[in-house]
Amino acid sequence: MIRNYKVGSPSSEVLNARVRPFEARFIQNLELKISNFGSFNPLQNTSTSSIPMASVVFEQVTKRFDTDTVVKDLNLTVHDQEFLILVGPSGCGKTTSLRMLAGLEQVTQGNIYIGDRRVNTVPPKDRDIAMVFQSYALYPHMTVYENMAFSLQLHGTAKSDIDKQVNAAARQMGIEALLNRKPKELSGGQRQRVAVCRAIVRNPAIFLMDEPLSNLDAKLRVQARAEISKLHKKLGTTFIYVTHDQVEAMTMGSRIAVMNQGILQQVDTPAHLYRHPNNLFVAGFIGSPAMNTFSATLINQDGEFYIKNEAFQVKLPDRREALMAIAPYSGKEVIFGIRPEAIHDPQYVPPDIIPATLTATVSLTEMMGNEIILYLTLPNKQECVARVDPRSTLSQTESVQIVLDLSSSYLFDANSEQMIISFNPFR
Ligand code: ATP
Repeated sequence: MIRNYKVGSPSSEVLNARVRPFEARFIQNLELKISNFGSFNPLQNTSTSSIPMASVVFEQVTKRFDTDTVVKDLNLTVHDQEFLILVGPSGCGKTTSLRMLAGLEQVTQGNIYIGDRRVNTVPPKDRDIAMVFQSYALYPHMTVYENMAFSLQLHGTAKSDIDKQVNAAARQMGIEALLNRKPKELSGGQRQRVAVCRAIVRNPAIFLMDEPLSNLDAKLRVQARAEISKLHKKLGTTFIYVTHDQVEAMTMGSRIAVMNQGILQQVDTPAHLYRHPNNLFVAGFIGSPAMNTFSATLINQDGEFYIKNEAFQVKLPDRREALMAIAPYSGKEVIFGIRPEAIHDPQYVPPDIIPATLTATVSLTEMMGNEIILYLTLPNKQECVARVDPRSTLSQTESVQIVLDLSSSYLFDANSEQMIISFNPFR
């Protein structure tokens, strides 16, 4: 028998106490929206949306709360079926950008398009979006099955079809055995999977995920990361995923958009972002441990360029295009950058590097199994971090020699903090 549910929203008191009011409103809106749709089968990816393509464009988007500008002139295109990561430190405007796209926040200035449709004034329920929140926002009084089925029931889908669709989604995320449990009887990882399943059965054109893994322990996060990446491949839907965790950013997305203080810094593939950061912020944010940076002066001695500060003087690689880029900085202060993996124990120097040897003391060693992290202090007391071969025997408090690989170094403008040159050979 087909169960026809009256279209209406469960009151917000019945929502999990951790659900923020806007999340509850959003989910209720989505469920109302589904009630207006024609028949569909989520797992066959047959969207009935009038939106032809699930590309997203932010065009000169600014968001102000009173006089505070929290997102400034955001220009960002997310391609149809892309998995884009929005990453940046806490408070940089990631969630606000996602909420403007979902229709939960008004845009102060600029335009947002989904496909070729400007959606600034389109209500959330008509944007064909499903959102997975950090809090999961599950209805605590409903079983897992009911949480997943609710939107389909509102739509009036036949019970046998609901059964098929819920079971297929549950199978996809490996939660078939949990369908009769209530959210309070689930672990954090299981709740997270239920929240994703509930989004899957909606068959949206766009998935928005706002730090969906941040409540999980380290091991589960690794597993859930892989699950979400596989899910994206399977569904072929546009995913926009917000995180402040740069490991998630590097491992999950096809492109990463890095934000800082409301301003988009760079959008690129993970590899290119790592090797060719636009500026000092991106260089320091992407990569763990972070890139080492040193204030230094660029010196031109008979056409050869050196980096000099109180701790070292090293000759930069003789690359023609690099020399042209750095020549205008002769005699000026610059920032010299080198990643931890480009600092080596002299006993284990890889072939084909451009070496420069320095003296340092080791203040701490961390044996990670496949590598050793060395915390070093240079003669001018500046600290830096090296990621060296696990066979290294350089030990704490020793005065040691370390080898920088200058073919993997960077220069930044000391005033604008923009990158001048990346000597990284990989493009
Ligand atoms: P996090 O990683 O901590 O969630 P975020 O990058 O997602 O941070 P947002 O939640 O987008 O950051 O917040 C950006 C800025 O906007 C913050 O300074 C925040 O305090 C402010 N903000 C967010 N919502 C409001 C609001 N409703 N009223 C006033 N200020 C707000």
